[in-house]
Amino acid sequence: MSAFKTLDTLGDDLGDVNGKVALVRVDLNLPMQDGAVTDDTRIRAALPTILELSGKGAKVLLLAHFGRPKGERSSTMSLSMVVGAVEKVLGKEVMFVPEIAGPVVAQSVGILRAGDIAILENTRFWKGEEKNDPELAQAIAANADFYVNDAFSAAHRAHATTEGLARVLPAYAGRSMQAELEALDKALGNPEKPVAAVVGGAKVSSKLEVLKHLVTMVDHLIIGGGMANTFLAAKGVDVGKSLCEHDLTDTANEILAAADASGCTVHLPYDVVVSKEFAANPPSLRTCNVHEVEADEMILDAGPAAAETLGDVLKNCRTLVWNGPLGAFEMAPFDAATVALAKTAAALTAEGSLVSVAGGGDTVAALNHAGAAQDFTYISTAGGAFLEWMEGKELPGVAALSA
Ligand code: ADP
Ligand code: MG
Repeated sequence: MSAFKTLDTLGDDLGDVNGKVALVRVDLNLPMQDGAVTDDTRIRAALPTILELSGKGAKVLLLAHFGRPKGERSSTMSLSMVVGAVEKVLGKEVMFVPEIAGPVVAQSVGILRAGDIAILENTRFWKGEEKNDPELAQAIAANADFYVNDAFSAAHRAHATTEGLARVLPAYAGRSMQAELEALDKALGNPEKPVAAVVGGAKVSSKLEVLKHLVTMVDHLIIGGGMANTFLAAKGVDVGKSLCEHDLTDTANEILAAADASGCTVHLPYDVVVSKEFAANPPSLRTCNVHEVEADEMILDAGPAAAETLGDVLKNCRTLVWNGPLGAFEMAPFDAATVALAKTAAALTAEGSLVSVAGGGDTVAALNHAGAAQDFTYISTAGGAFLEWMEGKELPGVAALSA
């Protein structure tokens, strides 16, 4: 991991931050319904950084995007909507400023006292944000003394407030960003070996780059979900009516060959749970060997024998990265393999023999459903940024923080 500055070095660099102005990029792209925030996880993630800076007497200006307004003001996407929810989580009053740069922000900064917090308007109302326009970054920076990025989830974008600002102001990783980078580094950057990766979910096509990168990095690659069918088919298995990308046969074989060349063992299920209909508890449900799938059946989960073998693989590993469920976990009983493996991983982590890091929208839902999430070492809610990190890409928002 390239070195980045944390809030620990703030005092050494800038002296007393009391009264200084901090621009803090956070993730306030909150799920909303009928004008109300339905999940405040992202606000809580930003809480330690905001309170730390406020506690040191900085004037904290929060920067965030909301939705996709495409460079124009939109009354339905104003960040004024989230002020109440942020105040509730912080337990402090928060000022709203309907601009991100210019005299209105300057006046607001003049009104704020040391330790006060303000939310600036949706950064994507300005065209320069997504274009990473250096003039916009300069204009935003003109009202502040330093920049803190606490939005890992937006770090795969090179935008003015995720990347550009780090070039024009002293830049630091916030506590949430720091925790994410440290966890990810433990999982793939500098992991204890052997390392296992679970990659599941619907399609190979959405995670091709992830698979290609992981075979060069891990000792065991566990492939599950719909994408396992594509690999099974490439190996000559008849997968019946299963979700399968037959056009990716060559790609699947290339990935298997690359794994072989770098000493990565690929695990595919050898028993599977199948049914004729895509529904919960279907009458045609049965478990069989992968070679016994009928033409009118679909593979919807890895079988119990495979799940147990995979658990044994994890018992011999020290590190696990997980993205994607092993089956159609939203419907019983096709959650069984995912739940079983998640519980094994959670137990091994609780015992201290495994470092486990997971991410992905459906993955997080599946691990919560299994009651396993709280025992994992780290759960990333970063979505696209997490996947790009799993692809081995350098995230521009992170790179810009490197000293
Ligand atoms: P994440 O959001 O964690 O990155 P994905 O979106 O890639 O995960 O994949 C999750 C989806 O994959 C779930 O909706 C799940 O039902 C589906 N899935 C998993 N296994 C199968 C399967 N065998 N057949 C069809 N869909 C599957
Ligand atoms: Mg998904």
